[in-house]
Amino acid sequence: MTSLDKVLSWIDSTRDESIEKMAKLISQPSVSSTGEGVEECAKILCDMLKEVGLDAKIMPTPGLPAVYAERIVPGTPTVMFYGHYDVQPVGDLNRWDTLPFEPDIRNGRMYGRGTGDNKGQLLTHIITVDGFIKTCGELPCSVKFLLDGEEESGSINLAALVDENRELLKADVCYFSDGPIHYSGRPQVLFGCRGIIDAEIVLEENIRDCHSGHYGALIPNPAWRLVHLLSTMKSPDGRVLVEGYYDKVRSITPAEEEVLKDIPFDVEGYFQGVRHPGTGPNWDPIDAMKAHMFLPTMTIAGLGSGHTGEGMATIVPHKAICKMDMRLVPDQDPDEIFDLVEKHVKKHLPEAKVIKHGKMYPSRTDLTLPLSKTITGAVAEAWGTDPVVVPLSGASCPEYVFTKMLGMPTVSVPYANPDESNHGPNENFSLDLFIQGIKTTAYVLEAVARNNK
Ligand SMILES: [Zn+2]
Repeated sequence: MTSLDKVLSWIDSTRDESIEKMAKLISQPSVSSTGEGVEECAKILCDMLKEVGLDAKIMPTPGLPAVYAERIVPGTPTVMFYGHYDVQPVGDLNRWDTLPFEPDIRNGRMYGRGTGDNKGQLLTHIITVDGFIKTCGELPCSVKFLLDGEEESGSINLAALVDENRELLKADVCYFSDGPIHYSGRPQVLFGCRGIIDAEIVLEENIRDCHSGHYGALIPNPAWRLVHLLSTMKSPDGRVLVEGYYDKVRSITPAEEEVLKDIPFDVEGYFQGVRHPGTGPNWDPIDAMKAHMFLPTMTIAGLGSGHTGEGMATIVPHKAICKMDMRLVPDQDPDEIFDLVEKHVKKHLPEAKVIKHGKMYPSRTDLTLPLSKTITGAVAEAWGTDPVVVPLSGASCPEYVFTKMLGMPTVSVPYANPDESNHGPNENFSLDLFIQGIKTTAYVLEAVARNNK
């Protein structure tokens, strides 16, 4: 029996204990937006990591703590597991069938806040480590864990923490599991994510709203002026007109072109419940994927001015605002992009103020690296089917702290069911996928160790 086989059968025979462990983590609230239970959850995790044989500690930050753990096996490559143990607020309790912090098992799933996102998923990595140590006496490679307590609040202290601990956090590859498997039921392996910069344009021109008959012809209307400004920022066909906006967009590699063809993308299905039937644009699947993964956006998230309530008000508004977010792709820098936007605004509407909000850098790992191939191969073996290889996720996450700051390839392999309802009511994690996740992690650790020899 190979070590991997031993671990796999251990995973099957300890299924109930693993599920109990997940229930224990879910029972402890850890809502980063309010701080509820976060410190307590960090302590539970830290103890859990020590119990399976890792050196673990709580790492304070100016906000909520992270948990760090490691087990070094000399002469082996190191896999860094990232995850987050904080959760989203529970929202309206009336929309939950059972209480969010009282895990309930039904329909082969565990229901509770944090099951899929992300406590249940990060736990799979810990259980795999436990399995190797219990059945083989040692891990096939070294592992480190960095568990974020603020991911759902934008990981605001993660970059500084990583910066202060560069030596400690050195590893050959970063691996994490968050989000769902592909909706087609196949696993997916993701090699990056877009970055983001949030900005707000504020134009306050008059002291107060005033009578449009008495003043309409005589004073500036900030709403019109903002609309004129916005029309200089993006063309009707969707291209951003801010000078230099696309300068640092990295081109698509031949390997990425290749995997794009294999990503199942059902145009109808993707927009179902989002677009009104019969409306466009009519995307070609490959073009849609390219726009989604390799091009930046500039999205108006909110526009406000004057009277937008019921009925009419005949006024000239005193102020207009626009909130926007820009999803960025490698190698765009959020601060540089903000500066370009601000420069554009100053040129076209000098009276407007541009305010910078949150940001994250984009991240992209080369999917042809030996470690990238090793992980993709391990996932294929674990599932008995080729994973969907996704060069870049359209959303944003703090992956750049590993790729950009620590220079390590970063690969994510999500384990949750596509209907995990993360961030929503009745969040859940399929127990079969939870167990499959533990096994997948075992295949990955074994393959990273084997291919290093
Ligand atoms: Zn989340």
